[in-house]
Amino acid sequence: MTAGAYIVWSLIGFAGLLAVPAVSHTNAGTTFSLVASSMAFVGMGIAQFLATRPPLIERLFGGLDRIYQLHRKIGIAVLVLILAHYFITPDFKGLALTSGLNQLAAFAGEYAFYGFVILLVLSLVKIVPRTRIEIPYHLWRITHRLIGLLFVMVAFHQMFIKRPYDGTALLANYLNVFAAIGIASYIYTQLLPWMRTRSYEVFDVNRHEGATIISARPTGRALKAKPGQFGFFRVNKPGLREPHPFTIAGIDDDGVVRFAIKALGDYTKALREGIAVGDAVTLEGGYGHFNHRRGGKKQIWLAGGIGITPFLAMASRLRGDEGQDIHLVYCVRDRSEAIGLETFETQAEKLQNFSFSLHDSAKDGRLDAGKIVAASTVDPGEADLWFCGPPPLRAAIEKGLKALGKAPRRVEFEQFQFR
Ligand SMILES: Cc1cc2nc3c(=O)[nH]c(=O)nc-3n(C[C@H](O)[C@H](O)[C@H](O)COP(=O)(O)OP(=O)(O)OC[C@H]3O[C@@H](n4cnc5c(N)ncnc54)[C@H](O)[C@@H]3O)c2cc1C
Repeated sequence: MTAGAYIVWSLIGFAGLLAVPAVSHTNAGTTFSLVASSMAFVGMGIAQFLATRPPLIERLFGGLDRIYQLHRKIGIAVLVLILAHYFITPDFKGLALTSGLNQLAAFAGEYAFYGFVILLVLSLVKIVPRTRIEIPYHLWRITHRLIGLLFVMVAFHQMFIKRPYDGTALLANYLNVFAAIGIASYIYTQLLPWMRTRSYEVFDVNRHEGATIISARPTGRALKAKPGQFGFFRVNKPGLREPHPFTIAGIDDDGVVRFAIKALGDYTKALREGIAVGDAVTLEGGYGHFNHRRGGKKQIWLAGGIGITPFLAMASRLRGDEGQDIHLVYCVRDRSEAIGLETFETQAEKLQNFSFSLHDSAKDGRLDAGKIVAASTVDPGEADLWFCGPPPLRAAIEKGLKALGKAPRRVEFEQFQFR
């Protein structure tokens, strides 16, 4: 668990701790219900904050992809807690500001509860159970945005509903702080697309067998990103406006960026067909924490398919003086799919500390741990494993290396999935 996750769960737990003395003079059911609702409310406020993609605290959480995972876990916890609050109805004689406001707050709480349950279930369920129907990402995104509005309703509910403690209690102040954080974060996320974006123009499109390689130059201020980071990418053209995350596969000193995008779904297929030289692109980033510089002296980089993109950016920036010995294993289904080979070969020839092997599954069979040990110039048992690719490949290689007594010292991986 990251330091950020510890802080988040402690803040949520602290709401429960503050709630106990504030409400325990009521009965046990009411105490339980209000402890749950206080914790849920703080969880909601924090989830809104995490959705602002805070770059300064990414380090605390180990990258934006991990922040999104935590955000999802908080969503599950909130769902359980609000169900407990709803079904164990608080019953006490308490303080209400005015009866009109109290009624409105009860009404807001009830409808926000229904909305939350529907939207949280929609957000958490990727594939409809017992079917192969996947909830489309754009639908997920629209419904997810409404959660912020529901949070505003819940904030109103918690401030004006009848409570068994007064407005100066520590708990009330604590909850108000998270109401403010959550509402400010929601407003900020709605403004984010206009605040943190940069304008680019496409000057080259290469429809390579393995990916569509898009090169673009800034038309104003350039994006700031480290090799291995990713950005949100969208084309200002009908059908291609939805922002999608892609690793910045190359970034030059003059701000020129390259993306390698595999056509795997609706958007990426439409992008392959529709993008053209001269198109205006909007980028937001760079995000993420996947950078070998913070790793050990010996490293094995393992890429599966399109998972090569962060390594392409990192390898092209190697100068040889990093004090790190690196071996890249690039696993592809078929050699024709491989991208960036020229960059890897040139760097491997030029630099002492970088070597590279291509695993062509069509010719060499399934990649396993033994083949990595045989191909690598770096001993996996003494190295960090940096991985980007399909999770089952990582699991199989980690297991295989362990069985060979060559478990890597640590494993770092990039998730190509947020949901
Ligand atoms: C940090 C990161 C870096 C990535 N880097 C690359 C890369 O360099 N090259 C590459 O080809 N792919 C990369 N991907 C994957 C890429 O974002 C998805 O393949 C793409 O968004 C799928 O969209 P689609 O509509 O074509 O496919 P769909 O079949 O509609 O979606 C497939 C899955 O992709 C995810 N997804 C879809 N739309 C979005 C969206 N707007 N925002 C976030 N996730 C979405 C969802 O989990 C969805 O279930 C990266 C993903 C992440 C999270």
